[in-house]
Amino acid sequence: MGDEGGLVTSGEGSRGFTPRAALAGLRAYDVESAPCALELADNTSPFGAPPAALRAMAAGVGDRLARYPTTYSRELRDAIAAYVGVSGDEVMVGCGSDELLGCAFRALGTPGDRVAYMDPTFVMARVFAQTNSLLPVAVPLTAAHDADADALLAAATLLTYVCTPNNPTGGEIARPTLDRILAEAPGVVLVDEAYAEFAGANHAAAAPAHERMLAFRTFSKAFGLAGARVGYVVGARALIAELEKVRGPFTVTALSESAALAAVTTDLPWVERCVREVREVRGRFADALRDEGFAPLPSAANFVLIPVDDAVAWGAALRARDIRVRHFESLPGIGDALRITIGTWDDMQRVLMAMAATRDARPAVSHA
Ligand code: PMP
Repeated sequence: MGDEGGLVTSGEGSRGFTPRAALAGLRAYDVESAPCALELADNTSPFGAPPAALRAMAAGVGDRLARYPTTYSRELRDAIAAYVGVSGDEVMVGCGSDELLGCAFRALGTPGDRVAYMDPTFVMARVFAQTNSLLPVAVPLTAAHDADADALLAAATLLTYVCTPNNPTGGEIARPTLDRILAEAPGVVLVDEAYAEFAGANHAAAAPAHERMLAFRTFSKAFGLAGARVGYVVGARALIAELEKVRGPFTVTALSESAALAAVTTDLPWVERCVREVREVRGRFADALRDEGFAPLPSAANFVLIPVDDAVAWGAALRARDIRVRHFESLPGIGDALRITIGTWDDMQRVLMAMAATRDARPAVSHA
């Protein structure tokens, strides 16, 4: 069907390359990464890595680098399973939850299948659909920014991706909405819970019993280990076994395995304290924004989405003040917006001052 790329010989006899049609229009993930005094664009932790994880990683540099890590990280899986409240066979770990989402699309979709996903959401849902020759079907959120259960179910696809709390809106999917999607979706429902620790609800523990649900979690956000690249997925053994087939061995490095293991055991109280602080600062920041006349969306994550009139200009103005946030243009149902990671209260006060100054410098086109 013209989808398979490869080396071809052109008419003149020189060798060329035909890209897969499924990848047309895709670009490699690209975000600005030049040094910036206040990094609030990627929803990582303002508190650094957890202390026992740092110690474990330092020790691993001495001991563990010459050999392969364990094939499928049994000890780490068991520790995560204890944390989530499931069994080790119901957990699989990978190089970030990104890798595991990719595995799920690859393992559970047959090229040509459709994948329904809420829109806007984490951009990689569409990308993983496309790179696995699946057809992405974007389903707009409801006016209240919830997942639209009717429309997702009407899409009648064998794979449905939902994200709660959702990136970039920050809202949780309402319990009845999620329950309905899980009960009635025709195939497997992928529930992306990258920000679950900051929210009220936690769905991963229910995934194995459901049998057609996978919950994706990560050490990159609440656990402060984005650089270690460790994520996990929770679900019924039969589904996990399918994902394992396509993931392949050794994708979690020995050092990352040690760090994540320390984080999810010894460092749990530390992580919980950080999460409590983020939730508290999130509330104060949202209140202060409202006092300034902005209208942040309610957030259950470690970031806040703020509609603005011209996201590019706002992003550039904050960047000029050495603050990096993520700007979005024309989000469906929302328009232009800034997504700002919650840092310490000092960080957020800097942001508030920079936003007030930006608004005052642009009186003709203030916030939406
Ligand atoms: N899911 C969501 C909703 C995210 O926002 C992110 C990272 N921004 C990921 C998954 C991937 O996280 P990681 O690969 O670092 O685990």
